[in-house]
Amino acid sequence: MLKDQDRIFTNLYGFQPWDIDGAISRGDWDGTKEIMAKGQDWIIGEMKESGLRGRGGAGFPTGLKWSFMPKESKDGRPSYLVINADESEPGTCKDREIMRHDPHKLIEGALLAGYAMRARAAYIYIRGEYVLEAERLEQAVAQAYEKGFLGSNACGSGYAYDVYVHRGAGAYICGEETALIESLEGKKGQPRLKPPFPANVGVFGCPTTVNNVESIAVAPTILRRGASWFSGFGRPNNTGTKIFCISGHVNTPCNVEEEMSIPMRELIEKHAGGVRGGWDNLLAVIPGGSSVPLLPKSICDTVLMDFDSLKEVQSGLGTAAVIVMDKSTDIVKAIARLSYFYKHESCGQCTPCREGTGWMWRVMERLVLGKAEKEEIDMLLDVSKQVEGHTICALGDAAAWPIQGLMRHFRDEVERRIDVYHGRQVTEAAE
Ligand code: SF4
Repeated sequence: MLKDQDRIFTNLYGFQPWDIDGAISRGDWDGTKEIMAKGQDWIIGEMKESGLRGRGGAGFPTGLKWSFMPKESKDGRPSYLVINADESEPGTCKDREIMRHDPHKLIEGALLAGYAMRARAAYIYIRGEYVLEAERLEQAVAQAYEKGFLGSNACGSGYAYDVYVHRGAGAYICGEETALIESLEGKKGQPRLKPPFPANVGVFGCPTTVNNVESIAVAPTILRRGASWFSGFGRPNNTGTKIFCISGHVNTPCNVEEEMSIPMRELIEKHAGGVRGGWDNLLAVIPGGSSVPLLPKSICDTVLMDFDSLKEVQSGLGTAAVIVMDKSTDIVKAIARLSYFYKHESCGQCTPCREGTGWMWRVMERLVLGKAEKEEIDMLLDVSKQVEGHTICALGDAAAWPIQGLMRHFRDEVERRIDVYHGRQVTEAAE
């Protein structure tokens, strides 16, 4: 279990003041100028060595992503850092806590990351529903300007850097990086085709890197304590600490920073008070936010909470939002509800997603009642495969995977409902 002295987010629960004085007393903004003086290449090198992988869901190596940005502007275009604070993945509420209780970690990270990428400014695109968090961020940004940590001579480094907070309007799809960029530009939030990638043509047509809040907020501590300190947690390719959001049928739902690769069972039992009714009452867990396939108890008994271990069992770490479902759960209904979510949030731009999400949801609704034929299960899986990988953005995959996970592990239950339904029909007809 992670020791307190190794936690990056020392005010995750808001027991101390969130403001700049509180942040400074916890070690934020300490030696920022000296870190900048080590140079852009040193910062990117250190981030690469730390092994940090993006904390927003995709898990792309953060230092490598930063290195894609141009070292100099050949055509006069400035570069930008965009921070994705549009946290909307069901089950996920970790970035909310960072912005609410530790906003200066994010702002200091925005400066160091932006400096490393030679960016002119950072835009923090925050989910519209996060009203308190947006206000906190705006106040924290103002405090940083007042102290001279941002602006024309950020931290006395001679580097000019601005941070802007931009509020979204409530669309899940704006968490997709190119839809976010479109929305930031004032357009309808719809994903763009890639290429071009944002590192070449991002916001306002300029080179842009989009990073998750947590990825940016951990950067200052990594740079202060060293890449080897961070990579000492977890295991190779899955290093560092991570905020896990544990919800559902547990005794004490919580957000907690833990070491990567902690066994799922240990995470749930040590931090969330265990499964309601005990571990044996567990039915399934969605380990990384609603977009990744669920896992039945037999796998949850031993799986580790990291990118590779969860991939091996055909799921994923995603946003590390652990949704626990005990045996009282109607598992088919739960997944049907997620299907409705993706149908509702599809931007409608590409046919497989626009039509497929609605089609899958309607079949799922019938399967909840068993009002279907068994052949339709394979047809549903077939359609999910037609949606997966055939759309502009990953929302299509996200809609397909929960259904595939359900059929992989609970097909018997779906078939049982169909049998019961038809049996009832036969009995009623006989009567
Ligand atoms: Fe829009 Fe869905 Fe296509 Fe993504 S996959 S661009 S959400 S229609």
